[in-house]
Amino acid sequence: MIATKAYAAQGATTALGPWNFERREPGPHDVQIEILYCGVCHSDIHQVRNEWGNSIYPMVPGHEIVGRVTKVGDHVTRFKVGDLAGIGCFVDSCGECAPCKAGEEQYCVPGGALTYNSYEMDRKTPTYGGYSTHIITNENYTLHVSDKLPLEGVAPLLCAGITTYSPLRHWKVGKGHKVAVLGLGGLGHMAVKLAASMGAEVTMLSTSPSKEADAKRLGAHHFALITDQEQMKQLTSHFDFIVNTISAPHDYSTYLNLLNLDGVMICLGVPPEASPVPAFNLIAGRRSIAGSLIGGIRETQEMLDYCAEHNITSDVEVIDIKDINTAYERMLKGDVKYRFVIDIASLKQ
Ligand code: NAP
Ligand code: ZN
Repeated sequence: MIATKAYAAQGATTALGPWNFERREPGPHDVQIEILYCGVCHSDIHQVRNEWGNSIYPMVPGHEIVGRVTKVGDHVTRFKVGDLAGIGCFVDSCGECAPCKAGEEQYCVPGGALTYNSYEMDRKTPTYGGYSTHIITNENYTLHVSDKLPLEGVAPLLCAGITTYSPLRHWKVGKGHKVAVLGLGGLGHMAVKLAASMGAEVTMLSTSPSKEADAKRLGAHHFALITDQEQMKQLTSHFDFIVNTISAPHDYSTYLNLLNLDGVMICLGVPPEASPVPAFNLIAGRRSIAGSLIGGIRETQEMLDYCAEHNITSDVEVIDIKDINTAYERMLKGDVKYRFVIDIASLKQ
């Protein structure tokens, strides 16, 4: 067994603190990874605080993982010791259902094994995430990471990057499309960078006036305050797509009216409370509401390669693991530009 140091939540209302546990030895198809950086996703906060009602404790969060391979199983062919590697939001899936066969493992019908707050496919061994020194994963659920980009900026691509890349590709967003990004946080800033890189005309819709200059620096062509009724009115029936990354409860109908004929609001954020959707806001303009969940392994690799080619990384603030609880409070106040990333070396001290 591999002794692993971590930070864990022991319950929904306690702060995260140090916790030690053991990981399995790598099996024939596994790689062992020494974790270097792990991004902090708003889903970590939702789950640590049991906001989705499905939390398993102790919980070691973290699904934006980059590190270096330190050991490989006998049958591993895709990785060797010393390679950089990435792990995203899931570590296994059934491999047999239609979505798994299509390479969309995130939609595994019986449900795959998430990187944390979940169970392995034996449905009894808990999974623990990236706020830890090591992780052992099947090579087929492990991504190759380029050495061209700063690793701390790559870590958030494993969730925030793929979660925004996948729907942009699915709906073939590009030149000629007007895209609104709702909420400038971890997902939002990646959505702006990626949609702009694909040629779309991007408008940032934010509650934070202080983020306008950043939004434009990240690639947004326009900025509007969602709290300003006049600005919102001017954007009525304006957008082909709204990429909704808001983490807090909000009313979808406020934003549906901003969609043009056949416009789609793609919901990525998972607020703890549901929003009512009045039929009138949909039938006017034949609008749709859709959702999208991270991305499959093949597409995650495609996204990592795309980002390496286009020099796209996340804007990060690197933190010591000891500051994780403060980081959560700052995220809830919108005080992060635009992703916290834990330097895992701080766990070893
Ligand atoms: P984040 O960094 O905290 O960003 C969320 C942003 O939402 C904030 O920066 C803020 O932007 C905006 N916001 C917050 N409260 C708001 C409110 N009351 N009204 C309007 N806007 C508000 O979070 P994140 O890590 O990007 O995650 C966003 C959401 O996506 C979370 O719910 C997370 O669980 C979910 N998620 C989903 C997937 C998926 O596969 N679909 C994957 C990862 C995460 P402004 O300051 O610009 O207003
Ligand atoms: Zn995430």
